[in-house]
Amino acid sequence: MTQAARKPETATAKWVYAFGSGKADGAAAMKNLLGGKGANLAEMSAIGLPVPPGFTITTEVCTHFYAHSKSYPAELTAQVTEALAALEAQVGRRFGDAANPLLVSVRSGARASMPGMMDTVLNLGLNKQTVEGLAQQSGDARFAYDSWRRFIQMYSTVVLDLEHHDFEDIIDAVKRDHGLRSDTEMGAGNWQQVVDRFLALVQEKTGTPFPSQPQDQLWGAIGAVFSSWMNQRAITYRRLNDIPESWGTAVNVQAMVFGNMGNDCATGVAFTRDPSTGENKFYGEYLINAQGEDVVAGIRTPKTIADMQTEMPAIYSQLLDVRSLLEKHYRDMQDIEFTVQQSKLYMLQTRNGKRTAAAALKVACDMVREGLIDKTEAITRVSPASLEQLLHPTLDPKAERKLIAKGLPASPGAASGKIVFTAEEAEAQAEKGEKVILCRMETSPEDIHGMHAAAGILTTRGGMTSHAAVVARGMGRACVAGAGEVRIDSKAGTLTSRGLTLKAGDIITIDGASGDVMRGAVPVIRPELSGDFAELMGWADSLRKLKVRANAETPMDAAQARKFGAEGIGLCRTEHMFFDEGRIPAVREMILADDEAGRRKALAKLQPMQSGDFAQLFTIMDGLPVTIRLLDPPLHEFLPHTDKEVDELAAQSGLSPEKIRQRTAALTESNPMLGHRGCRLGITYPEIYEMQVRAIFSAVQEVATKGIKVEPEIMFPLIATKAELDKLKAMTDAVAAEMKVAAYKIGIMIELPRAALRAGELAESAEFFSFGTNDLTQTTFGLSRDDAGNFLPDYLKRNVLTHDPFVTLDTEGVGELVKIAAERGRSTRPNIKLGICGEHGGDPASIAFCAQVGLDYVSCSPFRVPIARLAAAQAALGGEAKREI
Ligand code: ADP
Ligand code: MG
Ligand code: MG
Repeated sequence: MTQAARKPETATAKWVYAFGSGKADGAAAMKNLLGGKGANLAEMSAIGLPVPPGFTITTEVCTHFYAHSKSYPAELTAQVTEALAALEAQVGRRFGDAANPLLVSVRSGARASMPGMMDTVLNLGLNKQTVEGLAQQSGDARFAYDSWRRFIQMYSTVVLDLEHHDFEDIIDAVKRDHGLRSDTEMGAGNWQQVVDRFLALVQEKTGTPFPSQPQDQLWGAIGAVFSSWMNQRAITYRRLNDIPESWGTAVNVQAMVFGNMGNDCATGVAFTRDPSTGENKFYGEYLINAQGEDVVAGIRTPKTIADMQTEMPAIYSQLLDVRSLLEKHYRDMQDIEFTVQQSKLYMLQTRNGKRTAAAALKVACDMVREGLIDKTEAITRVSPASLEQLLHPTLDPKAERKLIAKGLPASPGAASGKIVFTAEEAEAQAEKGEKVILCRMETSPEDIHGMHAAAGILTTRGGMTSHAAVVARGMGRACVAGAGEVRIDSKAGTLTSRGLTLKAGDIITIDGASGDVMRGAVPVIRPELSGDFAELMGWADSLRKLKVRANAETPMDAAQARKFGAEGIGLCRTEHMFFDEGRIPAVREMILADDEAGRRKALAKLQPMQSGDFAQLFTIMDGLPVTIRLLDPPLHEFLPHTDKEVDELAAQSGLSPEKIRQRTAALTESNPMLGHRGCRLGITYPEIYEMQVRAIFSAVQEVATKGIKVEPEIMFPLIATKAELDKLKAMTDAVAAEMKVAAYKIGIMIELPRAALRAGELAESAEFFSFGTNDLTQTTFGLSRDDAGNFLPDYLKRNVLTHDPFVTLDTEGVGELVKIAAERGRSTRPNIKLGICGEHGGDPASIAFCAQVGLDYVSCSPFRVPIARLAAAQAALGGEAKREI
């Protein structure tokens, strides 16, 4: 139901709310009705701040406007007339009065600030007669005519849709005629000439005269604000920011105050704290003798607010009072607009200030210490996703670098990896655990999956807002864009810069914070959780119910995860340990063996290596749970692909190249994702899983001698049936009995719909479930992630899907399977441990869902652990992160 439909349209319906110094009909809590600007103007009035009086026409009028073929509620005219009369009485001027005219601004104001909306019109109410009154009253004809020309210019571009530059051309022409260079040299007569030519221009372009009646001007501007709600800019902005169309905008009509009446006048904007660092320091800019839009327009360079201390000391100290009053009142950092008219301060706007992640953190923690907010509130003040900005690795300053090119610093973070030239290659390499830098002339939506798989992105074209830059920032990938000196020849597979030619597979490092591109791998350092960051995390930990683990298999990742506060490993992918260069020969020997005996021989070589890996992980995670997933990918992924690799392997293994090719061909599948992989390998080649289980148990025994405690959780991937699980469980229990290991858990990945549905009986044998939501999304949608890139962007653009299901969990479909499996699993085994280890484990919206379903933990990549900790705390509070930050 729309707001308009809910509201009975009786004669008592209130469409207009007054505000002004000392009193107001509205309040900050009424943002839905009055829009953000109107609600805060009312609030500032009510707490006694000097706000020029005015009134707000509600968002319900906007809703009505669109529900009734762009017409207003019947009572609106009368209510506006009444509000205007009250305004006239309050300021002692009359709208349209030739001697003492009231001038107003007309300002749009939706609930959330919206760049797509109509721009403000200032000085409304001026015409041939009133301009004389203004001149008389102010004793400054130049000011009056300058104001008039500003009004015509703004109204014409904003309401009448005329071109801004046509008006600028006229100003330039008048200057030229009189040999003047700057606006400040223009006198009253010059501005009058400008006005005459402006009026002629409007007549010429629109075929009608510029509206001279203030009432017509006012309704023209009001109509333009409401109409701008449906302009293309606003529609696009709403779509990108999930703002519903039903919200509507309000219109604020406010008495003008003038910052351009002389040198005792000024206008400025300020933040109550530094919005980039969060430092508790007044931060802002102002211009003497100027009107509001001049500060942002950048025609004159504004002064910093500190200069006001000497230039306008009384006003400065008044502003400091306002600053502290507003912060105490709103209990958040404010972004304010003010104007000084003849040494009197007026407040024109306040809102919660936008800030960087670093500032959000500092402001939240400082405000807790200052007693303005409590710890729970502080938790909601920081958006988990924004923490990514603070968690990016940076180049080790001590490391040597060989700079080969410079581009734009498009997305922060430093990354090293192998050069790849296509998204497909990026993904294929990443699957094998390789770090890659995707190098392209520019990127397009089809490359998204490759960008996601890459550690960093380098483009030779495009700027800070190019596709590559925008997407990389969104994904938190390092990106250097527009490195024009780099030549990429993807056919030849080469990258050339400064006379140096590199090939696909060569290693480079990019620094997305500086734009540097370097040859080779430059060591990076990971940020530490310390100071405010650590403190906020501590508060989050005491609130959240979900545990947070990490997906990690290397000692480096595991150590990083622990530093970031991971409470165990939720997914250790053992195949990554097989790709290691020293091991791949033994892995290949195992795969190429003709029989079980041959395989066992090769596996015997691998077992101590695996055992060593696990011992290292257990040592790092001492005391915490570690979930180890047994081998998952199809075997052919380990075999050589190119002729050269086949020959090398032949030489190493003593097998003929033919034999290797034969075996590779035999293992090739047309749809490997749904083929011979996961537990299916463990069933058909039991000795592989047996070796892995032995390696795990012997590592447990090895670290136990050093007093390290670990309870391994052995996890079977791609389970579909209980028979599969029971066979593998029997094998595991037998090995455990033989090795005399007692403490371990057996569980499964839930990544097939059948497993989710049969969770009840699977829980008879499984002590834990881990939702592998990457594969579960693929198998639920019947959609391979590798191929989704071809059409998913189109689906999103056409609103067939609202989110990429590989980024944000599809709570309706995949989520329902998760819910079903959780319920059925728990009904068989009430204390079954439930977690999620897909990429969704680090996505705040998906984490909120996991909390709602009552999972025990989420597991995500190490550097997302802090994000997950905060998101889990917010989920426990039942809320989403504050959207405006
Ligand atoms: P925006 O949302 O783009 O900031 P505003 O409605 O806040 O638009 O106004 C644009 C500029 O005009 C601001 O600098 C504001 O302070 C100034 N302004 C708005 N109303 C008045 C007024 N009644 N008197 C003087 N300046 C005003
Ligand atoms: Mg503003
Ligand atoms: Mg899987």
